[in-house]
Amino acid sequence: MSNSLTHSIYMTMMVEGAKIARTRWEKEFLIWLADHNQSVIGLGIVGFDVCELGWIKEDFVAQKQFLLQLLKNAQANKTYAQHPIYLKEEFGETKITAIHSILEPLQVEDVSEHPRMYYSPQKADKVEQCPIHEVYMNNLDEEQKYRCLLCEAELYAKQKPA
Ligand SMILES: [Zn+2]
Repeated sequence: MSNSLTHSIYMTMMVEGAKIARTRWEKEFLIWLADHNQSVIGLGIVGFDVCELGWIKEDFVAQKQFLLQLLKNAQANKTYAQHPIYLKEEFGETKITAIHSILEPLQVEDVSEHPRMYYSPQKADKVEQCPIHEVYMNNLDEEQKYRCLLCEAELYAKQKPA
């Protein structure tokens, strides 16, 4: 996936994930996605292995269900085509479908329980949502506008000449 495509897919997953996340694992998955902020970490090194999402085997079925639901909702809502995401419908649909088709057949014996790797130190009490976009924020910065991928995308969009 190209960088902007990956970025859009992350934002899509974060927006839809935030609407349905209930458990600690689900919220932390979304923080982990936000933690892979390309503008901070550098372009081109993101992307994820579905076997390495910090799975907990005894909760595997529910965890996988959360991810599949999130992708289904992204397709239904065409989240990838919405501001500030700007992804053409055919690309968004293709990529979401591709991720869904990798996740769908995944079995508990395929996944690793290795903890997720973060770029920023994680604090147990730092599960925070952006007050504007309601997505879960990373801990890569102190300032809220740099901790929310959508706030930050809007900030950069404004800086570009019209
Ligand atoms: Zn925001």
